[in-house]
Amino acid sequence: MRDLLGDDAARRRAFDSAFVTVVGAAGYEQIVPPILEDIGVFSRIGEATDVVSKEMYDFVDRGGRHVALRPEQTASVCRAFVEHRPSLPYKAWYSGPNFRYEKPQRGRQRQFDQVGVEVLGTDDPYADVEVIAIGWDFLTSLGLADVDLVLNSLGDPEDRRRFSEAVGEHLRAHVGELSEQSRETLERNPLRVLDSKRAEDAPIIAGAPRIEEFWSPEAAEHFAAVRDGLDRIGVPWRLDGGLVRGLDYYRRTTFEFRSGALDSAQNALGGGGRYDGLVEDLGGPATPGIGFAIGVERTLIACDVESVFPGPAGGVEVFVVDTTGGSEALALSTELRRAGRSVDRGFGGRSMKAQMKAADRSGAELALIIGEDEAASDTVTARFLRGVRPQEQWPRAETAARVAAALAESKPPEMTES
Ligand code: AMP
Repeated sequence: MRDLLGDDAARRRAFDSAFVTVVGAAGYEQIVPPILEDIGVFSRIGEATDVVSKEMYDFVDRGGRHVALRPEQTASVCRAFVEHRPSLPYKAWYSGPNFRYEKPQRGRQRQFDQVGVEVLGTDDPYADVEVIAIGWDFLTSLGLADVDLVLNSLGDPEDRRRFSEAVGEHLRAHVGELSEQSRETLERNPLRVLDSKRAEDAPIIAGAPRIEEFWSPEAAEHFAAVRDGLDRIGVPWRLDGGLVRGLDYYRRTTFEFRSGALDSAQNALGGGGRYDGLVEDLGGPATPGIGFAIGVERTLIACDVESVFPGPAGGVEVFVVDTTGGSEALALSTELRRAGRSVDRGFGGRSMKAQMKAADRSGAELALIIGEDEAASDTVTARFLRGVRPQEQWPRAETAARVAAALAESKPPEMTES
């Protein structure tokens, strides 16, 4: 678990606003589910998944309830949907922390943030396309270029069941050649072995049955419509029959956004898929759903590697230096803040030199200095910290207006559309 300070926290906030820009433009509304839920909400995701069986932070609270910190948010959104029954289709986005007891490493923490969307109440393949395109457009809006969209369809539940059985049979026939890790996975969830990136598993996986042989005609038609839709709007994709994703409730479309800038073991920025049946499992009416989750930390690591999305420059516009005791700084900074400026000041009656140093560090363009002379003549001295403009003396009463004019002048001219 990590602390985010200063520029990192500002970048996290900017990440959210970039996401809100994309999802807001597509009519998604925000949902903020609680971080803690009844354990039952998550056990519906599937006991056979690591996320639920091995990685959950769960405990019995003081009232004797078995609860868990959410390991993901799709189940919470579905639980909230069952409780509140919003009108259909329900298109929601979220952003916030999840908890998984994993082995921490680069791009893998025990508390991590995800942004995501869910669309509940339609099985239209163009809803799949919309969701995938939103993920794609968001990642490209950050400036990421080295991202691959990988697609698969798991077919309908019966197709998936038969496929899983056939894969299990094939793997058990070669169990001696599998990695130890995959032998263990095979016991719990044969399909997950297909996700293995270990070299010794590769030849056995290559010989496994292929999902497309198991698609029902309806599932095949749905998937064809998804691929055509993505082509139509210019979102490039690649098929990967081995993409099964971690959670048991997926059916039909599954997808993942992979970054070429990251190590292959850790290269999934996010992903998702269609899950029909989860709402029903949580006590609601049969409701189809599709969504994705994108990992914030990992996506920001990819941004670092690609040198994009540096995050906003921090700092204030104005720093008030007061060597007369500090109450002039109190009055002036308050006045300017109320006029809409960002202003910082020094505390503790420090020397002129120390306060000017702080002004420099603050990122301000302008230092407003009040010493004994200025206080006596009811003026302020304006010193321009980034540039060559010589310092000026302003009447105290005109300071707000002069600050506004000076900052407007120092900003680059607004881009105008031609
Ligand atoms: P999942 O919910 O497992 O499909 O994960 C979706 C995305 O969330 C992944 O592609 C990662 O970017 C991110 N993610 C999942 N688990 C972690 C973790 N423990 N630490 C950091 N990011 C994670």
